Amino acid sequence: MISTLTVPLLSWFAQSRRDLPWRKEPRDPYRVWVSEVMLQQTRVDVVVPYYERFLARFPTLEALAAAELDDVLALWSGLGYYARARNLHRAAQSCGGELPRTAEALRALPGFGPYTAAAVASLAFNQDVALVDGNVARVLARVFKLSGDARPQAWKIAGELLPRGRSGQFNEALMELGATVCTPRAPDCARCPLRQACGGKDDPARYPAPRRRPARPLLRWKALALRRKDGAVLLQRRPAGPCSRASGTCLWSGRRESASTATSRIAAGSSRRSRTARSAFRSSPRGRAERRRAARCAGWRPKAWRRSASRPWRASPCARPA
Ligand code: SF4
Repeated sequence: MISTLTVPLLSWFAQSRRDLPWRKEPRDPYRVWVSEVMLQQTRVDVVVPYYERFLARFPTLEALAAAELDDVLALWSGLGYYARARNLHRAAQSCGGELPRTAEALRALPGFGPYTAAAVASLAFNQDVALVDGNVARVLARVFKLSGDARPQAWKIAGELLPRGRSGQFNEALMELGATVCTPRAPDCARCPLRQACGGKDDPARYPAPRRRPARPLLRWKALALRRKDGAVLLQRRPAGPCSRASGTCLWSGRRESASTATSRIAAGSSRRSRTARSAFRSSPRGRAERRRAARCAGWRPKAWRRSASRPWRASPCARPA
């Protein structure tokens, strides 16, 4: 089974792979890393201009490590999921001028999960280590007709399929196949190099089975903190009881800070899940949805939080009762 998959897959990849800026040989580990981080949750065509601007400004690991975080975030502005940029910057500063060469060592750096560590280790250093992202999980789920949660099974199968010494190419080929041929809604089985071996090609839509999402937690805000660039913190604990501007129980009541003095960014929140609480105020679709939900729970509705590269965080001066 291994050769019936590996040989046609690698042969197809050699002929059909897309010419992307981070695929220039020889691979630069720093560039591989930046591209993998940017590609998380983001389409290739969106990433390319960001990647090129980022690499023009921070061409090396040393340049990124020496940069101000604000400059990194400004170049990231619009890509979303800003924790990626913060972790990229922190990892550049903490890796000692050189990325470790193994997935195990990479995992010790900020922002390196199992996928990113395996991607950098295999693509840049050709370590024999498997990886599974959404594309790989989908391809393997279809080829092997995996039922239930495909991801854990896919990790095991990917490790067994790995051709020693060519792991980087194999991993990249599987990801490329999932991104360009074995796509979620319209797999092009007629031009797939794995069609001979694929068990699910007659009904690819069945695989992988849809994942059940766990119920999201209810957020109840106890306090919010706003921090200015100079380190000053604006903090007011919300009193118990229903929100009312008239009675002065609104968190923002009486707080009519101008945009220049009010907030540079949200520093912290307090809720049952502090990580979620912090992300609730980031400028992402998920953040906005959580913010609206949190606001409903707390009985008030913050109007808008915005951020751009040239202007600091801005908050509506006052929340209105829901
Ligand atoms: S044959 Fe079709 S379903 Fe199977 S891996 Fe290829 S594109 Fe996906």
